[in-house]
Parts: sequence; structure tokens; C-alpha cells
Amino acid sequence: MGTIPSQLIEQIAAANDIVEVIGSYFPLKRAGASFKALCPFHQEKTPSFTVNPSRQTFHCFGCGVGGSVFRFVMDYEHIDFPSAVRKLAARAGIPVVEERSVSGEDDRQHETRRALLKLHAEAAAWFHENLLKRDFAAPARGYLKERGIDRKIVDNWQLGFAPESWDACLKWALDRGYQRGQILQSGLVKLRDETRAESEVYDRFRGRIMFPICNDVGEVIAFSGRVFEKEIETAKYLNSPETPLFRKGNVLFGLHKTKRSLIEASCAIVCEGQLDLITLFEAGITNVVAPQGTAFTEQQARILKRFVSEVVLCFDADAAGQKAAERSLDALLQNDLVIRVAEMPAGEDPDSLVRDRGREEFEKRVHDAQDFFDYWIERETAKRNLNSLGEKMQLARALAETISRVHDPFMRGQIISKSSARLRVSAKEFERLLSSAKRPAGSPSREAPIAEEPRREIAMLCIFALRSVQVRDFLLTQNWRAILAQIPDSDLLIRILESDQRLEDPASVNTFMSKLSRQDEQVVSSLLLHKVPNNAETIARKWWHGLMLPILRRKVEQAENKMRHPDITAGEEIILQKQIVDLRKQLDELSEFSSAPCAGR
Ligand SMILES: [Zn+2]
Repeated sequence: MGTIPSQLIEQIAAANDIVEVIGSYFPLKRAGASFKALCPFHQEKTPSFTVNPSRQTFHCFGCGVGGSVFRFVMDYEHIDFPSAVRKLAARAGIPVVEERSVSGEDDRQHETRRALLKLHAEAAAWFHENLLKRDFAAPARGYLKERGIDRKIVDNWQLGFAPESWDACLKWALDRGYQRGQILQSGLVKLRDETRAESEVYDRFRGRIMFPICNDVGEVIAFSGRVFEKEIETAKYLNSPETPLFRKGNVLFGLHKTKRSLIEASCAIVCEGQLDLITLFEAGITNVVAPQGTAFTEQQARILKRFVSEVVLCFDADAAGQKAAERSLDALLQNDLVIRVAEMPAGEDPDSLVRDRGREEFEKRVHDAQDFFDYWIERETAKRNLNSLGEKMQLARALAETISRVHDPFMRGQIISKSSARLRVSAKEFERLLSSAKRPAGSPSREAPIAEEPRREIAMLCIFALRSVQVRDFLLTQNWRAILAQIPDSDLLIRILESDQRLEDPASVNTFMSKLSRQDEQVVSSLLLHKVPNNAETIARKWWHGLMLPILRRKVEQAENKMRHPDITAGEEIILQKQIVDLRKQLDELSEFSSAPCAGR
């Protein structure tokens, strides 16, 4: 796959009116200068999904999704960017000729990825053939058969086997013409001494059943190897390391096969390992995901949220299983996913349950799955004596802390009334606890950071830099790279200033947006809806200077501290003094400017 040139993307954007494109999926209603509909990405009763014909963007005020015409097609059809581009190109009758990128760095990255994909595809085929044909794989075949995995399933998932050897895979890959560096980069082999790049390498996967891990479009990007002999004392699953193809926290096993069912059911059954997922899928329960033996990451939960609104966790009845599931909670709650809990009978996992008692029994458990908070309250109250005020308070606080991670106001309200009723405290009192419950450190929040001054100024500058040619030109004449590098959360403004978009041309802005992350694109789509006042440039200058003030002050402080250093030489002192004078002069000018009233306000 080559890269699609920006010019072509722009041409395709210009040829696909966003109102027509979205209108071909579901009806849009005119509302003033824009169009409205019930949002297809979240449940709602009054329309907050808006399509703006003059900006050629969409945005939902309910759930925050938004972006260019490409983003809409990607999200609605659950396809990746190149596929959305091709689809819209076909719609407008524009032929897509993918070209090799002109930049050498992009070219190299592209080349690396292409070679790694080829190596992974061939390795998957080699592992697969080992499993099917080699004598040494007989025990693995026996194990799979015992677990109800027949030949058809082995083929469907391209399961394989890595021989019990230190160099079989290495030799195979070298024979195929791959370089040592490439094989090392793929993670199929490992350095004997991690600190020395030239040290000997050996096979990472030995004596394991191999599960290829695929991306959205079904290309193999990594492997998970599973031991199967009970007496072996080692990790049950071993995954590929992070590579240019594979970021562990970004991939859900089997998604390329399960996504259709996930969308249809709007509910995901979460199981622990690959074998659980495969057994369920092949038994006809196809809306399943597995976070690869670890807890859900924020990124995985966000991916999941694109497909479903609800998840059912299959808790292993044992304590370890519950711990594992609980570690996923944060990420799931933060993405406003409704969570239910299906308890498995003691000693059973989804895989064994389906095999021993049949699909119906499993489905019944999923159907009867309890709401997570009910489950949680029940379990916690059973452990405690609620007649003791101290214990009751402790429980209420723990509960409030968990609930504080839920963003959706409606969902939160529901949980609060349920929890307070169970604890027999008034909802008001409980809410007071909730507002004092501290958000766990490091967890991102959609509400918290707005209050901070620089963030607000940066956000406003983003709006103006997107909407006003004058402001954009002013910022571009400033030393913006150096200054923004010192201001947290200014990445988006940097991207906006770096881009060569023409603000008056929606196709050009759409092309710029198509290169942003999903989150940044959402932010931009909402920023684009803001009105820009006539005196935008004056206001922007003032904000810009407001941002520079603390930076200059800090520089003066640093220089003054250096001056006080006992080992300073006379020459250094002179330079520093000159610096301080310069900085103070700049500061004076800025303070004067910032305190001047904004003209025309
Ligand atoms: Zn929405």
C-alpha cells in the first residue's frame, strides 16, 4: 500500500459534499445554516448531530464525535483511512493512484512496514504448516483436538506451531532471504544480551501454539504463543514485543473477524484469552473480544466504544479472575461503556463452559449478567457489616471513587440513586461524597483541565488560527515553534501552524483534518463551529503575549539564579547581564501591551 498524495485527498474532499455523503446513509434535516440528525454514534432522543455545509464538517454535541467527510465514512463504516479515501474517490469517479512518498524518512518507514508485514505473513504460514504437517507438532495437535479445536478452526484462525528449538525460526527466516536486522525487528527472535545489538539471537517462541494477531484488515502484525503442556512452568501466553507494526495496547485480538457482530449486537463479551475467544466464536457467539491476557488499556476501550455501548465481562469465579477484570474497569468506565458481569461457575472459563454445558448455558449467563455496580455493591456489602457506621462510610467512599470515573451524566445519576438506596443514605449525601472523591492520579478527565489559563488561551488561539487568516499570519511571524515547545498541551496549535492549509477552502481544511488523530480531529471539528469576532487579531495578539509573559519571567529567574552561582566567570557574567537586560525590556513591552484595552471590544 502506497501513500495517497495530499493533493488527491483534497480533490476527493472537494468532490464529495459532506451533506450529500452523510445524507446517503440517513436523512438529514435542515436547521438554519446547517443540517441535523439523530447521532448514529450514540443513543439520543433529540438530534445533536450537526453537519455544517460551509465548513464541510460534522460534529455531535452529545458525544463529541466529529471531523471531516473521511472521518465520517471511517467511523460509520468502520474502515481505515485509505479505504475511506478509496470509497469516496470511487463515489466521485476519481481514480486513485497511490504514490511512493517523496520524503526519504516516510519512504524508509513505509519500506520497513512492508517488509515486516511480508515476514509476518510468511511466518504465520510457516507456523501453520508446522502445526498441520510436522511430527514434532503431534502433541500440539493432540492438545487442540482435546480442546475441541478441529482442522477447520485451525485453518480459520491460521493457528500454528513454533518448534521447540533455539534457532529453527531464525534459520527459516534467513533461508527466506530476510536480514538479521529485520528478523530481530519483527520480534520473532531475541538478543541473548539485550544491551549489545551485535550479540547472538535466538527464537522467541519455542514449543508454543501460535496465534497470529491481525490488524483491522486482517494482516498479521504480531503473534501470541501459548504453552500447552501443563507441567511447563512458564507464562501461559507470550506475545510479540512492541514493533513498528504492533502496539500491544492498541490491538484487540480477533477484531477483524468479530467487528460486524459487535456492531450488530452493540455489546461485547469480554473473555480473557485467545482460545476462549476462538471457542466462543466458533460456537456461534461472535460478538467477543479479548484484551490479550492483560487488562483493558484506555486505547483498547476507546476502540471498543466505536463498536459497542455495552460490555459483558466474563469473570472467572476465582479471585485472580476478578482482579484481572477489575483492572479493566477504569478504561471501560472512562469511555462510558455500560458494564455487566457474567459469573462463570467455579473452575470454569467461557471456553470450558461452552464445551461442557453448551452454547445455551453460556448465553443464558450472558443474558442474566448483572449490572456491574449491582454486582459490586452486593459483593462488597456481603463482606462488610453495614450496621457499623465506620464500615458503611468506608464502603460509600470506595463506591463514590469508582462512580466518579463515569462521565455520562445520565448513567452517573442512575448509579448514584441505586447505590445510595442500597447503602440507605440519601442521594444528596452520597453526591456530596462523590464530589469529594478524588479522581485517580493520571487518569484523563474531560472536565478537569479546562480551568487552567494557558490551556484556555491555547484553545482560543487554535480557533482563531483555524478561522482567521490574519491571526494565522500574525502567529506565523512569531517565534512560535520555540515558544510553544515550552507550553504544555500546545501540540494541536503546532500542527495547525505547521500545516499549509488554506483556511477559506473547506477541502484544504478537510485534508488537514484527515491527518490528525481521532481526538484532535474531534476537537478541531468543534472549534470550527465557533464564531470569530472582527477584532480577532487584536485579541490573539493579547493572548499570545499573555502566553509569553510567564516564559520570559522564568527565563529572567533562571538567568538571575545562574548569576548567583559562585563559580561564574567574568565573561559569563557579562553575557548573563546582557541577557537579563534584554529579557526585562521584552517583558516591559509585553506588560504594557497586555494591559492595554482591546480595541473595538
Ligand atoms: Zn453523538
